[in-house]
Amino acid sequence: MLNQKGGVGKTTSTVNLGHGLARAGYRVCLVDLDPQGHLSLHLAIETDQLEATAYQLLVDDDCSIEQVIVPARERLDCIPSTVDLAAAESELADHPDRNSILRHKFAPVSDRYDIILIDCPPGLGLLTLNAMCLVDEIIVPMQAHFLAMQGVGKLMETVWRVSSGVNPDLKLGGILLCMHETQSIHSRNVVSELEAFFEDARQSDSPWSGTRLLHPPIRRNIKLAEAPSFGQTIFDYDPDCRGAKDYQGVVESLLSGWCSNDKSPVVVQADSEADKPAQDQVEQVVSSGLQASVPASKDDESTTGGNSEGAG
Ligand code: ADP
Ligand code: MG
Repeated sequence: MLNQKGGVGKTTSTVNLGHGLARAGYRVCLVDLDPQGHLSLHLAIETDQLEATAYQLLVDDDCSIEQVIVPARERLDCIPSTVDLAAAESELADHPDRNSILRHKFAPVSDRYDIILIDCPPGLGLLTLNAMCLVDEIIVPMQAHFLAMQGVGKLMETVWRVSSGVNPDLKLGGILLCMHETQSIHSRNVVSELEAFFEDARQSDSPWSGTRLLHPPIRRNIKLAEAPSFGQTIFDYDPDCRGAKDYQGVVESLLSGWCSNDKSPVVVQADSEADKPAQDQVEQVVSSGLQASVPASKDDESTTGGNSEGAG
């Protein structure tokens, strides 16, 4: 779950989709990769009782994944985090394997889970990059607002860089509209624009050629904001409310997409002509209101530096 903006619904979606998928019979691991530790709080995990969390997992070579896994619900495990994790970005800056630490740490338990969902921090730094190296798909929770789309342009640029370098399997799997206002004309216009953009991308070889606007959008529902204060997911707190129904709908939509998808990796061509369709699309994002810059070089694995001046 990735969006460099805060407050868009990443944590709420990670917790509730994670629990929804576990209830559907899948073995799920949730990773709290945000130093704010909201995912851990939301699941009522008492992190002060733990010897190790995501921070030790990343910075301590001797810390194994087994030491940080906490069972949270039936079929639902969690790797919690605390505020310490904020230091990991700078502590790992010179680590030779800094992008892939999480991927390597997960290797011993890869058969244990069907699905790993990562709650990313609001930013595109080293923690987020570790998440992007581990997963196959990014889901972007966002609001259907014009300014929110600009952020997605920047995010697509980052996905492009990572998929061209350290993780060729990476795709932009879905956009999840959160706190959605179904009645607003502005929201409807933004949704139409997103649909048209991703429809046009279907024939490209970009990481967003298969991106779906996940259905249904998650409507604003106060129960979703109340549930964390009880350390409960929406399915614990009020399984009949609108929020639970919306997240259950997305669980089913994700599962139907995953079951029908050809999961073979799309390896992006390295020659510059092959980059052209996807580059055109990023430019199209810019002209259609989203903002992004075309990556300077396919070989550039950096995701944190640079700004959006290029194609702006
Ligand atoms: P992020 O993890 O992206 O920072 P959160 O998931 O923490 O965002 O959501 C931000 C705030 O909005 C939280 O207080 C959360 O409870 C609330 N919230 C999230 N989704 C909804 C929704 N659909 N309806 C009402 N409140 C929501
Ligand atoms: Mg959060």
